[in-house]
Amino acid sequence: MAKKYLPLTICTAILVLIVGLLGGISEEIPPLKAHPLPPTLAQWQDPTNSGDYFEQVKPTTAGYLVWAQFPVKVYIQQEQTDPAIAPDRVQQWLEAVSQAVQEWNIYLPLEVVQQPDGADITILRSRPTLRPSLDPSTGQLQLPRVRSAETRYEFYIRKSQDAPTVLSHRFNIQISPNQAPIYTLPSARHELGHALGIWGHSPKETDALYFSQVRNSPPISPRDINTLKRIYEQPTRLGWQLPNDIGN
Ligand SMILES: [Zn+2]
Repeated sequence: MAKKYLPLTICTAILVLIVGLLGGISEEIPPLKAHPLPPTLAQWQDPTNSGDYFEQVKPTTAGYLVWAQFPVKVYIQQEQTDPAIAPDRVQQWLEAVSQAVQEWNIYLPLEVVQQPDGADITILRSRPTLRPSLDPSTGQLQLPRVRSAETRYEFYIRKSQDAPTVLSHRFNIQISPNQAPIYTLPSARHELGHALGIWGHSPKETDALYFSQVRNSPPISPRDINTLKRIYEQPTRLGWQLPNDIGN
């Protein structure tokens, strides 16, 4: 999602399932429509008038990746699955990721849940899987870069007994426990920004969604929130009821 990468590139964004799901039910998906602005964003005013980078955020086939139901459920991997990682490193990772959740929680209500089942955003303590990717400019397969974090999303049809069947999405974030601990918080902050709807990168290194890691990682900036607010004003198919019940 960026033209230029520094060695500490932190982000690769990958979409799965969109062709299979939206292609197969193209006449059944909800029409594009904006949701009411969440109160936390409606109240947001930028005293510094510092603008945004909304033009860098591209909608998906399902529209903008906004959440419609709050709090958004976030699962943070607790259990230790890799004995090679020292317990204090695990603890540092957990604290950094939890802090990133608390920072975004000011702007959109988030809830940390104890089980991955049913979570909207799952954050795993693992190194992103290395996969070759296709370079669209050359048509050649590229060797994977070593990355410290990766965020993916998928669409699915959410059914529940006491609510309408809606088109929904869920995010999976992998944040490596092997990078220097000082980078875990900015990684988590950045990837959570993607998962909350900022599906693009800022060209300014003073924003949390700057495309690459920098030495002095910035906090969530007014420009990040201005961008987030504009995204939540946009139309989406997500979170809306399916025109027909296609679930049977
Ligand atoms: Zn990114």
